[in-house]
Amino acid sequence: MRANLTIDSRRLWDMLMDTAAIGGTPKGGIKRLSLSDEDRRVRDWFRRECEALGCTVHLDTAGNMFAVRPGKDMTKKPIAMGSHLDTQPTGGKFDGILGVLGGLEVLKTLHQAGYETNAPLCLVNWTNEEGARFSPSMVGSAVYAGAYTQAQMDAVTDKDGITQGAALEAIGYRGTDRPGALAFQAYFEIHIEQGPILDEEDLSVGIVTGIQAIKWFNCTITGRESHAGTTPMAYRRDALAAFAEAAQQVRQIAIDHGGLATIGIVSAYPGSPNIIPGEMRFTLDMRHHADAVLQTMVTSAKAAIAEAATRHHAAHDVQPLQDSPAQPFDPACIAVVRAATEKLGLPSREITSGAGHDAMYTARVCPTTMIFVRCAEGLSHNEAESATQDDCGTGAQVLLEAVLAYDARG
Ligand SMILES: [Zn+2]
Repeated sequence: MRANLTIDSRRLWDMLMDTAAIGGTPKGGIKRLSLSDEDRRVRDWFRRECEALGCTVHLDTAGNMFAVRPGKDMTKKPIAMGSHLDTQPTGGKFDGILGVLGGLEVLKTLHQAGYETNAPLCLVNWTNEEGARFSPSMVGSAVYAGAYTQAQMDAVTDKDGITQGAALEAIGYRGTDRPGALAFQAYFEIHIEQGPILDEEDLSVGIVTGIQAIKWFNCTITGRESHAGTTPMAYRRDALAAFAEAAQQVRQIAIDHGGLATIGIVSAYPGSPNIIPGEMRFTLDMRHHADAVLQTMVTSAKAAIAEAATRHHAAHDVQPLQDSPAQPFDPACIAVVRAATEKLGLPSREITSGAGHDAMYTARVCPTTMIFVRCAEGLSHNEAESATQDDCGTGAQVLLEAVLAYDARG
């Protein structure tokens, strides 16, 4: 039987607010781009805090930081917690940071109580989750999981032509460990929801069952440019008119299937007030938690684009850009999170993640799940991003209970 250990939500809140000063913006957010000097400063702070708790901090070649707290049985693989300390250029104080500092608060609570787990614990700060300075995102966890190579990561440049590899070395965080060498028994990540569901339903936490499938496309509709004043409506091959009809239908397809569709970039060519647009280029992002339903949505969307183009005597082209299948989380990990919410008497619900997270990659190599914490109006990637001290503390308490329950399974 284990003691009742309680997270100090005030201490967690103070860490959130204190570290928010590293890269703090006048509007109350954080600008802490990956591998910047601000990133170095928060990493230095994180390392010191973990070492003060008796942890050994390991660094891999991707700059991922692993703070290992010994357990009774060092032959067991560590149970891991973590997220990321980098932010968007106009980021908030919680996205990613809550996952790392929530895990740190778990370690502090255990340390203070002198509690020894069976397996070692490991708290991870993943490199470049946001992808704001160096694209793509989630690169540290991708390299860890073998989905991306170290060479690919190193070669990416920022807008000033600095490579990610050089930036990693410049801040002194290129480690020597092989990414993935430190294998986990399981991985748990707390994160703000970044959506409005928990706030709307007045719930502190959500039990995340997986990450939804995502497909991106680059699309083109090609009609014919012609004079706006002399071409009768019936004679036009108006690419924009075809696009507008397709866009309406794509939206309806998403609604009908309970999925999501976003046209995020649109350009009309040649771009003159008195020329009927001859070409439309646009991106399409479609998401659903089930791969099969997403495939149906995509097939319908392609048909809608083709039909709209044909109605306007235009050609069309749809090229895949990115494809990431649904990533269901591990049932045993989900079960300990659910049991934790029940033990704490917390009303909660199951929820699918709409965004990608480092947990998406760890899920490829070890049992993984996430815990979502309510954020005001679901607002994120915004300096006004907001979560309460109580909810952050509750999320960390669920994390603590879940990790201890997983550890107690033996
Ligand atoms: Zn994040």
